[in-house]
Amino acid sequence: MRRLRKVKILATLGPASSDEGTIQKLHEAGADLFRINMSHSSHDMMRTLIERIRNVEKRCGHPIGILADLQGPKLRVGKFAEGSAQLVAGQTFTLDQDETPGDSTRAQLPHPEIFDAVQPGHRLLIDDGRLHLKAVSCDGKSIVCTVVSGTKISDRKGVSLPDSTLGVSALTPKDHLDLDAVLATDDVDWVALSFIQRPEDIAEVRKIARSRVGLMAKIEKPQAIERIDEIIELSDALMVARGDLGVEMPIESVPGLQKQLTRACRRAGKPVVVATQMLESMITAPVPTRAEVSDVATAVFEGADAIMLSAESAAGDYPVEAVSTMAAIARKVETDPNYTGIMQAQRSEPEATGADAISLAARQIAETLKLSAIVCYTSSGTTGMRTSRERPQVPIIALSPVIQTARRLSVVWGLHCVVTEDAHDLDDMVDRACRIVVREEFGKPGDRVIISAGVPLGTPGATNMLRIAYIGSDGLTGI
Ligand code: PEP
Repeated sequence: MRRLRKVKILATLGPASSDEGTIQKLHEAGADLFRINMSHSSHDMMRTLIERIRNVEKRCGHPIGILADLQGPKLRVGKFAEGSAQLVAGQTFTLDQDETPGDSTRAQLPHPEIFDAVQPGHRLLIDDGRLHLKAVSCDGKSIVCTVVSGTKISDRKGVSLPDSTLGVSALTPKDHLDLDAVLATDDVDWVALSFIQRPEDIAEVRKIARSRVGLMAKIEKPQAIERIDEIIELSDALMVARGDLGVEMPIESVPGLQKQLTRACRRAGKPVVVATQMLESMITAPVPTRAEVSDVATAVFEGADAIMLSAESAAGDYPVEAVSTMAAIARKVETDPNYTGIMQAQRSEPEATGADAISLAARQIAETLKLSAIVCYTSSGTTGMRTSRERPQVPIIALSPVIQTARRLSVVWGLHCVVTEDAHDLDDMVDRACRIVVREEFGKPGDRVIISAGVPLGTPGATNMLRIAYIGSDGLTGI
């Protein structure tokens, strides 16, 4: 199955899309990998979804990635005697640790660890910023605030503290249990970490997960932006989590941050996902707004590796239509006359490694000779990712003997992943590459391809070979 687009689509599964038939339709419509949101999924449900995704994968014969998104330290207020309370701007409102249901003067904030982090003047943004409180005094047990704007607070609403660096770990007790359950399946490719603040948060999860899953850092806090280079260095991928980012930071700064993060990841050669509200109105309507189409297009023009659907595919009325709309926008952008020039302008210098030198050369040769494809043998995924970093105009086929690598690469821009056993020798490598190019409909007899690999095969990071090959007249052998 050949996709006619380079950017990948990550679709969140949920009540609207958890049956196997719908997962299959989402994949056929263009979803390259699926997100299971651990904020809303039980362990049983997660295992069921994984099984259904793997059944779809078996039927379509194409590796599909699975991302488990951990909830992270999301802060919430307690409950209210009446379910909610009305507030007025200028009044005093207190957050404390008393379990008594809240009213219009106070509410419980059941996170004792944050009371020392909030200082007078800090903002407390509740319910995605609809209620804005400012801390006036804090004594370690309660936070007395003034209501700056907003009029309502209700049970279990989320709280953002953009000015306070919290001494909380990125993994809550729930996350620990969820991560254990995810790792126990041995069948999840990526884990997303929510509300990380510092590189140490990634290191903490890495100690537990080691290399069994790729770690995707969700960038949604200003503290993470301040240390973004170190965070990128320690992560395997990034998600621009625009929902919470737009609450924790001024909403008008989100588009610029999206650009900065996308470029930083591209320089580092790490995949970046742009997420949240991309086609929000399609939760209830079969067509998107013009602004949403433009938003998806912008992420594609910026060179994001993947674009994500949240409630649109998880809980909306039109999950399949949302995926096919996203795919159609991406295809259109990628054939726009400006697209190639924009991709080229954002290209970074190669690093001084064999993988980068070979990837740059492979792209230049493929574009100069107008070859049908770049075929890269990649066991750890490094050669695939470094080739994608070049954003070549020709298709990239990533061949891997490791199914987990092929699934993990499903999030990476432009990589068409195929699982194939390692070649026995150079001739076998060329034959195998040519056969797969023809079978996957990227070329025909008489076409030429360029093959990159690390010889001896199976040595991660040892990319050291380039070979131009003709596809023989039988389409089976390379010359
Ligand atoms: C976000 O905040 O944009 C995001 C992707 O996180 P979640 O959907 O898990 O809240």
